[in-house]
Amino acid sequence: MASLETASPALEVLRRVFGYDSFRGEQEAIIEHVAGGGDALVLMPTGGGKSLCYQIPALVRPGVGVVISPLIALMQDQVDALNALGVRAGFLNSSQDFEERRLTEAMYQAGELDLLYLAPERLRVPATLELLDRGRIALFAIDEAHCVAQWGHDFRPDYLGLSDLHERWPQVPRIALTATATQATHAEIATRLKLDEARHFVASFDRPNIQYRIVPKADPKRQLLDLLRTEHDGDAGIVYCLSRSSVEKTAEFLVANGIDAVPYHAGLDARTRAQNQARFLREDGLIVVATIAFGMGIDKPDVRFVAHLDLPKSVEGYYQETGRAGRDGLPSTAWLAYGLQDVVQQRKLIDTSEGDDAHRRRQSQHLDAMLALCETVECRRVQLLAYFGQESTPCGNCDTCLNPPESWDGTIAAQKLLSTIYRLQRERRQKFGAGQLIDILLGRKTAKVIQHDHDTLTVFGIGEELTESGWRGVVRQLLAQGLVAVEGDYGTLVLTDASASVLRKERTVLMRREQATKAASKPAKKAAVEMPEEAAPVFERLRAWRAATAKEQGVPAYVIFHDATLREIATSSPGTLAELGRVNGVGENKLAKYGQQVLDTLAE
Ligand code: ADP
Ligand code: ZN
Repeated sequence: MASLETASPALEVLRRVFGYDSFRGEQEAIIEHVAGGGDALVLMPTGGGKSLCYQIPALVRPGVGVVISPLIALMQDQVDALNALGVRAGFLNSSQDFEERRLTEAMYQAGELDLLYLAPERLRVPATLELLDRGRIALFAIDEAHCVAQWGHDFRPDYLGLSDLHERWPQVPRIALTATATQATHAEIATRLKLDEARHFVASFDRPNIQYRIVPKADPKRQLLDLLRTEHDGDAGIVYCLSRSSVEKTAEFLVANGIDAVPYHAGLDARTRAQNQARFLREDGLIVVATIAFGMGIDKPDVRFVAHLDLPKSVEGYYQETGRAGRDGLPSTAWLAYGLQDVVQQRKLIDTSEGDDAHRRRQSQHLDAMLALCETVECRRVQLLAYFGQESTPCGNCDTCLNPPESWDGTIAAQKLLSTIYRLQRERRQKFGAGQLIDILLGRKTAKVIQHDHDTLTVFGIGEELTESGWRGVVRQLLAQGLVAVEGDYGTLVLTDASASVLRKERTVLMRREQATKAASKPAKKAAVEMPEEAAPVFERLRAWRAATAKEQGVPAYVIFHDATLREIATSSPGTLAELGRVNGVGENKLAKYGQQVLDTLAE
């Protein structure tokens, strides 16, 4: 380690307070820029280390760093984590009683805080603005800055008011941070927050430790159970479902199969929700089954997998949700099961959604991009990063890289399907979805086929070379390529402008071969966390000590030490406090507080 005398104030704080050796990526440039009084717009993936980008400048500059964050439920944990490091932090939000609020306000005015967390709606209250005037502000940090953008998926009207900060406090530097950033969102954040002079820092959006996998949906709960049993036994994770009822059913199903899981959705009462969230944060290895209402700002570092049982509404949402896995940089899985029914359901939601045409068009574009990601025969990561405007090469850590799908010339199959749609569309009597089309192609004389005389069509039985699930794959891929569209309540399949070129044989259609059976019998490389074998029991001992300590103090386990830190301790087994102090994540305060206990645990 370089001597502290020669280190910059920022580096000195990084080492002494946070216990880390060196900055990551652009952290140093961002911190120097903001500490020097400049505005910044920071786009960095989840787990990239955004918090330090405003926490350290707040500690280095005179005054209090004011952090605007939309999620009041997490402020207590954020403040606890800072206090554990010896940083003086507080928050003001509607969950507090009068006395707590008064105390925090007094500390702010007296200059006894390093960081003050605020919910955005607080800034609409004149009393808050007057309070801020009575103290000294080191900087404004606007966290989850994409909430100001209407293009995105987390728009919060209160964020629009944040553009006024600059007018009231022109001398105070502002730093806006987000992990979601298509170019459209990026531009919108800059204009809406009036960050005209800000320097933009755009980090790579790659999360190399996350393994992306998208599988055809068959029996999603079973598929999920397989995944958990074969690859994520005892791991903490998040399972996303679209509806409240599927959240409930999936959680019950997991519990019935002996897996620790709790539900989370907006229909549960506030207390149960808070309780389940707190358990997820505090306990090791708990699974939360949730709607997308869950997760923003959850900075639990050791979430080992994120599973989607339904198709996310946009690539931005998917990226954001999967990004909650593996913040600690250790191997993690992003797994999505997706089927034709998802597309039908999402189209229906869009068609019946409130809002104007422009809004629906935006939602449609989001869905199309998501479908394209699901059906790609190329590297998932390359496609995902391209969506965020970043070029890359095949990653070797996604399903299509690990288990390359064969592609086949699906032109004839596409023509068969499209001409069947064409024939039914010409009838105009009734609308039919994928099920009926597939029955016709397979030559099945179901009641509904007979009722509509569909067994007399020339296309009846012309598709026996594929199975039912093969045809479903064809339909999905045609949807993803814009060669058919879904309409109305029953998921009627209709031709698009582009269909004609296939029917006229002017265009070939490449498809990916479904690997349903193959993939199940040959699971992808296990995303396990590596550690020398002899260190494992020591790690478990340290974990038990950590769990007991966290419980005693009523804070999440990771507030004491992260898994990555415990692993390093278990592997390097330090014998003295000085040696322990060199482990990544062990700062001054934690060394003084827990150092001896850790050494005792190691000596056991
Ligand atoms: P983000 O807010 O961008 O999702 P965090 O600020 O929560 O990311 O940081 C992610 C993890 O990386 C945290 O556990 C944090 O302590 C750790 N971290 C951040 N910067 C460094 C660094 N320079 N060295 C080591 N660990 C770091
Ligand atoms: Zn890949």
